[in-house]
Amino acid sequence: MSNADQAELDKFSQLAHRWWDPNSEFKPLHDINPLRLQWIAELAGGLADKQVLDVGCGGGILAESMNRLGAHVTGIDLADKPLKVARLHQLESGATVEYRLVSAEDLAQEQPSYYDVVTCMEMLEHVPDPVSVMTACARLVKPDGWVFFSTLNRNPKSYLFAIIGAEYLLNLLPKGTHDWSRFIKPHELASYARQAGLEPVELMGMTYNPLTKVYRLERDTDVNYLMACRRV
Ligand code: SAH
Repeated sequence: MSNADQAELDKFSQLAHRWWDPNSEFKPLHDINPLRLQWIAELAGGLADKQVLDVGCGGGILAESMNRLGAHVTGIDLADKPLKVARLHQLESGATVEYRLVSAEDLAQEQPSYYDVVTCMEMLEHVPDPVSVMTACARLVKPDGWVFFSTLNRNPKSYLFAIIGAEYLLNLLPKGTHDWSRFIKPHELASYARQAGLEPVELMGMTYNPLTKVYRLERDTDVNYLMACRRV
């Protein structure tokens, strides 16, 4: 049995043809990408010539950008349409990401301790068993290697901002994109990471100002946040 929710995968497949339209449902991913890319690259000490795995890569926004910084990138996802879009897009962009339809859990059997860096962004909140994915990420990375997660915090403010605000008031995301009950508090994510054999080393918040439409990385982890871990 695979650790995936078919209804979630279908949601992403149905929208996949618009993945690279910067004004589509995927606009937030385009807008946050430079911020997270820089944060990842800095902490990992550069990405040039590193072996990087992007788990839940979708249409490849982050995967391509890491490849552009010189990384050898593999992108995996369990939804087939986003992967097709990702493969087509790099015919245009010239990126050289290897895209595969495989679960993190299965790839961990095939390539244990292979990657310098593993990223898993905006994905854990769509998965039935996030700890299983995180454990697979820990197995896929080399000892001392970096694993980066991002997800959504679970509290009244995140319900107001990420569900009511983003899906109902601002129409940043299609209604039903997120299930608030699957959001993960930072201390929970840190504890899951330790269970998985990872040491959390950095926690960073990501905020959106609806008036200026500007995203920023800052200490405020109330809604969106990222966590950097190293394999122990
Ligand atoms: N990580 C990308 C895409 C985020 S959208 C980015 O941040 O730019 C969430 C992605 O997770 C979708 O592409 C969806 O298909 C994928 N996904 C959801 N459940 C998954 C699972 N169990 N295994 C792999 N990918 C999954």
